Amino acid sequence: MKVYLDNAATTKLAPQVLEAMMPYLTDIYGNASSIHAFGRVTAGVVAEARATIAKLIGADADEIYFTSGGTESDNWATKGVAFAQKGKKGHIITTEIEHPALLQAMHWLEGQGFSVSYAKINKEGFVTAEQINGLIREDTILISVMLANNEIGTIQPIAEIGKIAKEEGILFHTDAVQAMSSIPINVKEQNIDLLSMSAHKFNGPKGIGALYIKRGIKLDSLVIGGHQERSKRGGTTNTAGIVGMAKALELAIANMEENNAKISGLRDYFIDRVLKEVPYTTLNGSRENRLPFNANISFDYIEGESILMSLDLAGIAVSSGSACSSGSLEPSHVILALQTPIEQAHGSIRFTLGHDTTKEELDYTIEKLKESVEKLRAWSPLFNVKSGKGYYV
Ligand code: PLP
Repeated sequence: MKVYLDNAATTKLAPQVLEAMMPYLTDIYGNASSIHAFGRVTAGVVAEARATIAKLIGADADEIYFTSGGTESDNWATKGVAFAQKGKKGHIITTEIEHPALLQAMHWLEGQGFSVSYAKINKEGFVTAEQINGLIREDTILISVMLANNEIGTIQPIAEIGKIAKEEGILFHTDAVQAMSSIPINVKEQNIDLLSMSAHKFNGPKGIGALYIKRGIKLDSLVIGGHQERSKRGGTTNTAGIVGMAKALELAIANMEENNAKISGLRDYFIDRVLKEVPYTTLNGSRENRLPFNANISFDYIEGESILMSLDLAGIAVSSGSACSSGSLEPSHVILALQTPIEQAHGSIRFTLGHDTTKEELDYTIEKLKESVEKLRAWSPLFNVKSGKGYYV
């Protein structure tokens, strides 16, 4: 059996999305910036997609700018605001659990002389609006708080934070990359000035995303070189990707309620069984107010990577919290931010369900998980010492 439980990393392209994109990958290939008929056709299609996406988040079409995805949108939002200050080095507020796309941009800005405050999360995985309020300074130019976390799925109080930012006259950006298919968004009602999204997280194509920029906000460009996107973001228009993203978002939002109910039901079944049937396990992040498809569980005394590899051999795809791909075996910054004891932090695994996930797949995963954990713990000196079954040699 093959089981894909890594939908926070990326999702499968929906068949209707592929169908919508197909003409623009084949017969209708004009450059949307060309003034001849070939170009006019694709320009029209892109305009339609822009309007569709805008409407779905309560924005206007001229407030949507297409990018290559979430990483670029996060970089553009933060660096764009910072450099629009024209030489002044302001202060930015964010959280310690943002995605590396945002955190790395913050570190880079610190290197350029900007100062950044990183709000801590509580043990449940949340920041509060009061905390953000307490970090505001005279020179604060931007608040950036993610809508939902990519590792533990906790949903942050962004409408409240947006309200505070508005009252204080500070720009507010949210990274909504993980949240688009699960949480209704209305940028006006939630006081959002800038919002990042990425199509491949909601059954759209990879390599296309968008940044919502509220009309009137001054933002320097990140990618220069062409007059595309009203001269704010250079690069030939990705017509097929844009059409695919609009279709995917339309489907995600139309089916949101039904999908959320189905997926959260399965996710809860999975969490309950794992916590009950596998000893020494903890759910990372709050049980309430988390993305319906996210379960992040720590398995004490073993390395997440070992579980990941063992499940991989059984045909099951999950993700481990540690940044081992970056050459470091440090546990994930998000799991550590929950003040998780180090031996628990090392053993965290993220299971993220998709629209197609079935109960049978989860039953199979639980069975393989129990086998893997038992086997790995039998080899774990730490487990044997703690459980009184053996000693270090
Ligand atoms: N922000 C969050 C919260 C994410 O989860 C991701 C991807 O994992 C990104 C940004 C980056 O998006 P992309 O893969 O489109 O560059």
